[in-house]
Amino acid sequence: MSSRNGRSRRERLNADNLKAQRQQPCARCGQRIDYEAAPDDPNAFNAGHKDSWIDHPHLREDPGNLRPEHQRCNKSAGASAGTGLGSTSRQW
Ligand SMILES: [Zn+2]
Repeated sequence: MSSRNGRSRRERLNADNLKAQRQQPCARCGQRIDYEAAPDDPNAFNAGHKDSWIDHPHLREDPGNLRPEHQRCNKSAGASAGTGLGSTSRQW
């Protein structure tokens, strides 16, 4: 069964693993990420893609292409930065 945004099981695992590492800070703004925040909190963790999987589809499931970002930073980056992963935490 695939998710509504087309994210694979591997992508979800990659995001979960990255979150578990609790890396700091946000790769986009340099501010601290609140790992205790609710999934819909703008300061909550999101798994962002260093290289857009839109432009680099082969990197979409590469854990090495992920980095910690705020939900708000990931969202403001738009679809090219992988909003598919950005919405994952909401489903936990
Ligand atoms: Zn940020």
